[in-house]
Amino acid sequence: MEKYQMFIKGGWTNSSDYEIFPSINPFNQETWAEIPQATQNDADEAIKAARDAYESNWGKTNGITRANLMLKLADLIDENAKRMAKLETIDNGKVLGETKGQMHFAARNYRYFASFADKLTGETVPLDNQNMFDYTLREPIGVAVLISAWNSPIQTLTNKLAPALAAGNTVVIKPSEYTSVTTLELGKLIEQAGFPSGVVNIVTGDGRVGSMLTNSPDVNKISFTGGPVTGQKISETASRNLIPCTLELGGKSPNIIFDDANMENAITGAIAGIFAASGQTCIAGSRLLVQKTIYDEVISALKKRANEIRLGDPLDANIQMGPVANDTQFNKILSMINKGVEEGAKLIAGGEAAEEDELSKGYFIRPTVLADVGENMYIAQEEVFGPVLSVIPFDTEEDAIRIANNSKYGLASGVWTRNLSRAHQMAKKINAGTVWINTYRTSAAQATFGGVKNSGYGKERGIQSLLEYTQIKNIMIDLSEETRDPFSIKV
Ligand code: NAD
Repeated sequence: MEKYQMFIKGGWTNSSDYEIFPSINPFNQETWAEIPQATQNDADEAIKAARDAYESNWGKTNGITRANLMLKLADLIDENAKRMAKLETIDNGKVLGETKGQMHFAARNYRYFASFADKLTGETVPLDNQNMFDYTLREPIGVAVLISAWNSPIQTLTNKLAPALAAGNTVVIKPSEYTSVTTLELGKLIEQAGFPSGVVNIVTGDGRVGSMLTNSPDVNKISFTGGPVTGQKISETASRNLIPCTLELGGKSPNIIFDDANMENAITGAIAGIFAASGQTCIAGSRLLVQKTIYDEVISALKKRANEIRLGDPLDANIQMGPVANDTQFNKILSMINKGVEEGAKLIAGGEAAEEDELSKGYFIRPTVLADVGENMYIAQEEVFGPVLSVIPFDTEEDAIRIANNSKYGLASGVWTRNLSRAHQMAKKINAGTVWINTYRTSAAQATFGGVKNSGYGKERGIQSLLEYTQIKNIMIDLSEETRDPFSIKV
């Protein structure tokens, strides 16, 4: 049994009342790690440590100092990627190839944002009055609370932590209670890299701990990845405290195949979009819109490909799909599949738990394809967050756009076509934060990511996300030394 501690003010500590909770391996339901459940006192200590570090040193460090520490951290992540990936796979059931890729992707992101740390400049602003000099400073915001979800713990955290640190903020992190281990391991690398005490603090526990942090009056910014219901609560708290907040929430993303697409690539994109990571990604292409002219061909290809997916121990390099992350997810996914079938969707593949001996202890659900789904059905509207694809037929480009936008979510989307003009038209008309053309589920440190509608607001990755961890101060100087009339406005 691994026993973990929290990282507060540069030191490792138990919960102040010694309460712990288990981390469970979804492959075999065994408790494999013990994690502290933070108290209000621990949350307050972490925020105070972040505040002190911000006021005393980090907020005033120069960019190159921050960049060098971040580059050191990136090297350490790369060096420890194999070990960290294994821990993440044990914690959340994602296959090792994916978790390893995510560790190196995280390192790449720290390098990308490090390169901006000494380039956050303000502007000189020409005014009408030549005797006035105006300029801006781009400054950090202060103490940021970063709350992440369980499906990609290090990746979703990195989207927040890398820009926050590059811009000169200090942070308190709370990982999901289902997957705290790799975030705490990252804390060890942060310590090893030599970040000053209190710049990064990690407290663990369930949603109550998240709420303790977000409700603190001494927090200047919140960034949250998780479900829309929690997102709403956090947004209310942020608005009560009048602080900015970034929300990366759920999705029900449309992946659209036209009959002029490269069919092999489109089918592969559809499979990757929904079955990679067992469908437990916010960007899952969970609604597959297929042009009627190729509908039967696509359905039979999906059936074949879904049935060929290899399920098993996510630590085995030959395995393509691991278990879903926890029992709540497992039960929710199965009940949503049943609801889809009750509503009239046609079950083409999967639809049940996998119960072979070697899988029986894990939360395995077979890759599921539901065909002939109506665009307004529950299964077409609600996020499953599991390996369940809803296939919806369409006739024309206009139909595809209407169906794609018929969702409360707007996180991501995909379009498969060889027609260049159609591709650009679709990109303009789909209401989502990301449109992939002839690819799906690809990402880059440079490519800004973030949803619209119920998928949240604010951006992650790319320069835009860095700017969201800064604020602009305007400075105006009178160069004239003239004595002014106190009752007239000087312009
Ligand atoms: P969740 O909302 O239940 O929990 C997310 C985090 O919020 C956890 O750390 C949790 O402990 C914390 N939390 C819970 N209640 C809180 C409260 N009242 N105040 C503060 N923090 C609180 O979500 P989840 O089940 O962990 O994650 C699944 C959801 O995350 C899905 O909807 C998925 O689409 C979304 N997600 C979005 C992205 C994205 O980038 N858009 C990425 C991954 C996951």
